[in-house]
Amino acid sequence: MSCLFCKIIEGKIPSTAVFQDELGYAFADVNPQAPVHVLIVPREHISSLNDAGTEKQALLGHLLWAAAEIARQKGLTNGYRIVVNTGDDGGQSVEHLHLHLLGGRSLAWPPG
Ligand code: AMP
Repeated sequence: MSCLFCKIIEGKIPSTAVFQDELGYAFADVNPQAPVHVLIVPREHISSLNDAGTEKQALLGHLLWAAAEIARQKGLTNGYRIVVNTGDDGGQSVEHLHLHLLGGRSLAWPPG
């Protein structure tokens, strides 16, 4: 599997782990866009949110819960943002489903 995030999950490419369990892995984004910028990924390879079928509903909910759990652990009491870039128009650059957790500063809206 040539997927970058699969290699990170397997430990073949180094990362700074933030959270992990049987379903997901979370690590610091290498190019942080906020004081807290964590990527939460499923251990199984799913290319994008658009490729997560009906059978992945529980997994998707788990990843969202994990993101909120990390936000609590990081003390983001003033709020944060979860982003799932999907496809070309969504700005997705790595084709392994991932949630961005961004926090630690005020975030503008709308996004670019
Ligand atoms: P996206 O554009 O939504 O697909 O996000 C991909 C994210 O992966 C970007 O924020 C990158 O900074 C991040 N990224 C790329 N390579 C690595 C890496 N080796 N370790 C951690 N984050 C990475």
